[in-house]
Amino acid sequence: MPENKTLVMKFGGTSVGSADALTKAAQIVKDARADYARVVVITSAMSGVTNLLLDSAASASQGKTDSLPSAESTLREKHFAAADALIKDETLRAETKHEIDSLIHSFVELCKAIAILGEASPRAMDAAASIGERMSVRLLGAVIESAGVSAKAIESTEFVVTNAHFQNAHPDFKATTEKTRQLLNPLLDQGIVPVTTGFIGATPTGAITTLGRGGSDYSAAIIGAVLPADDVWIWTDVDGIMTTDPRIVKDAKTLSEITYSEVAELAYYGAKVLHPKTIRPVVDAGIGLRICNTFNPSHPGTRLIANIPSDLQPRDGQIVKAVTAIRNQRLVTIEGRGMLGVPGVAARAFGAVASTKTSVPLITQASSEQSICFAVPSESADSVINALQVTFASEIEDEDIDRVWMTEDVSIITVVGVGMRHTPGVAGQVFTQLGNNKANVLAIAQGSSEVSISMVVAAADTELAVRSLHDLIAGK
Ligand code: ADP
Ligand code: ASP
Ligand code: MG
Repeated sequence: MPENKTLVMKFGGTSVGSADALTKAAQIVKDARADYARVVVITSAMSGVTNLLLDSAASASQGKTDSLPSAESTLREKHFAAADALIKDETLRAETKHEIDSLIHSFVELCKAIAILGEASPRAMDAAASIGERMSVRLLGAVIESAGVSAKAIESTEFVVTNAHFQNAHPDFKATTEKTRQLLNPLLDQGIVPVTTGFIGATPTGAITTLGRGGSDYSAAIIGAVLPADDVWIWTDVDGIMTTDPRIVKDAKTLSEITYSEVAELAYYGAKVLHPKTIRPVVDAGIGLRICNTFNPSHPGTRLIANIPSDLQPRDGQIVKAVTAIRNQRLVTIEGRGMLGVPGVAARAFGAVASTKTSVPLITQASSEQSICFAVPSESADSVINALQVTFASEIEDEDIDRVWMTEDVSIITVVGVGMRHTPGVAGQVFTQLGNNKANVLAIAQGSSEVSISMVVAAADTELAVRSLHDLIAGK
């Protein structure tokens, strides 16, 4: 008999992206039941679906609906092919396909309405994006049931309560705790596996929200924390958290364990494998977190471990553990000798940036106080520059500020490792390595936790910088 323990498992887009993947996911759920009496499954949309939904809605907002019929048939084919292959019971199969078909229909109607309006509000974009998980949850629920495990599909909009910050909603943990327990515990008590949607929630008045792209990892953490679960496992398409993005460096290695603060830096600085907001709820609730591979389930994956006390060296002796890159950024600089010693310039600058709802991943200020420099995503750069020019209009006129300008596209490259805190000369090694490989560093920042060092390089140098720093990790 399994212990009365609770496990939350989240399957990413590739892990539910085909009949083959869904078969593996269902087997994983079945196997987990041997060790956990209570299992909750969270699913992403099938791979490629969220992009397709958002692209179609964005085209509709420009009045373009000609690609809608092909999007519609892609969605239908993708879900129906898996349903036909895997759902054995005829009634369940017909019911599942019918519900998916209705969702596709409502999506098409939504896009047509967007096209008539000529605009898509963040709320409309969330309604469109949510369709992906709302379809896959029905499919995966039925596939798990067909594999002989009693399961019930339930949309997280019924119990993940969020604010109305569409496209990047924040959960109300109190309301979510109450509703999640109320809805999921009776199922778990009966030995039923609730299969629910990642990525989405709803406001108290029922409007569908999303937690931001890649947000189903965060859903797993939220649901795991409020139940609470003993463990949260994130099933994806690689063996765990690796020394770098395996799409850039083929021989990147899987890390068997990583501390919470290291993974927080990695996720924040672009390692797509885990949504950056995932870590906080599980750390706060003391829940075990593991990242593992749906396509290689016997591999132990990466286990997240508590932060190493500051007097200890990393267990594996590795000082720099991993390297990441965030692409499509611009460096914005405000400069002028008249800024010297003037209080409040930085506050006003970041106030102006915040007014455009842009987040700033990296800031540096030269000690001379003659310039402030920070990174923003390229797509927000124009609106940031405009806001700064308005805010500092009089200083610009008086020539206290000489100019507000931005670079072409750049990338932020970050090296991460708790051991860096106690090892002098790591920054030197990192810069020497980049210099030797002729990657030009445009700006530098070090996190106050000293777990990471970030460097800004021109877009064209991204891969070169990642590869050469990865060589440092690999001891090449
Ligand atoms: P899922 O759909 O399962 O959530 P994602 O595509 O969001 O999967 O994240 C997994 C992908 O993240 C991997 O396939 C890999 O290409 C990419 N990735 C980037 N950096 C890393 C890293 N440091 N370790 C592992 N994977 C990484
Ligand atoms: N389907 C959503 C996305 O593609 C959420 C996720 O996969 O985590 O962003
Ligand atoms: Mg993801």
